[in-house]
Amino acid sequence: NYSVSLPDTYDDEMGELAESIETLARDLQYLTKQRNEFLASISHELRTPLTYIKGYADILRKQDLPKEETEKYLTIIVDEANRLTQLVKELFELAKLDQNQFAIVKEKVDLHPFFEKIKQRLLPIFQESKIEFTVSCPPNLYVMADPLRLEQILFNLLDNAKKYSPNNGAVVLKALKHKNEVHIVVQDHGKGIPEKDLPLIFNRFYRVDKARTRSLGGSGLGLAIVKELVHAHGADITVSSTENAGTCFEIIFKGEVR
Ligand code: ADP
Repeated sequence: NYSVSLPDTYDDEMGELAESIETLARDLQYLTKQRNEFLASISHELRTPLTYIKGYADILRKQDLPKEETEKYLTIIVDEANRLTQLVKELFELAKLDQNQFAIVKEKVDLHPFFEKIKQRLLPIFQESKIEFTVSCPPNLYVMADPLRLEQILFNLLDNAKKYSPNNGAVVLKALKHKNEVHIVVQDHGKGIPEKDLPLIFNRFYRVDKARTRSLGGSGLGLAIVKELVHAHGADITVSSTENAGTCFEIIFKGEVR
């Protein structure tokens, strides 16, 4: 005949444990919901171009169309096939990032010459859209980054800046030192993003204006990849925007690199 005496803290501990299990279950439920939504989006995004491809291929097979119309349909088929290729590439990239299989090989990057290189590559593309593209960076400003990945991040942000700017707009890429942080800024004077959408734009497949961005060729994965790549560097990204005035993305590298 013996009794087990439980410590006074027993009830508290059991309560805490129950609470943790509840939180865990809620997190799991949330993750499962997110995963299902992601899979539903993937299947939708893959199906749309496939529907176009199949539809127009069927028409071409069944009907003897004038050369001009045939060309038009073939162009759509090629465009949609390209969209599929891009989508699969981006999904693969995200999958690798999710599994931490992305090798980020950091080195000391001197931002001044790095930006000059980016300017040389992108200037003709901006000129084609009649958008002014300026780059500014003080000398001897460094970040620890994987140069290829940093390039990918900036190309993505600059491509968006160009896509969502009117002709004769202006886009700025600049870097500045702020206390012991380095900020890389991509700023445009384009259509801007409504305030209610701002917290969502880094979500996978999120697009502010689905119909319009489809015609511009967006998948809605670009910013999700940017966010993952920035975080993989241990850096942060913020966005501020005013509708019809412009958008500003800022990448923040903490810690000074000399
Ligand atoms: P997308 O491939 O559609 O451009 P992103 O993930 O790159 O996808 O961007 C998500 C959405 O955020 C875009 O569809 C667009 O609505 C909005 N967006 C991103 N960058 C800008 C910008 N510079 N100006 C206005 N809207 C933007």
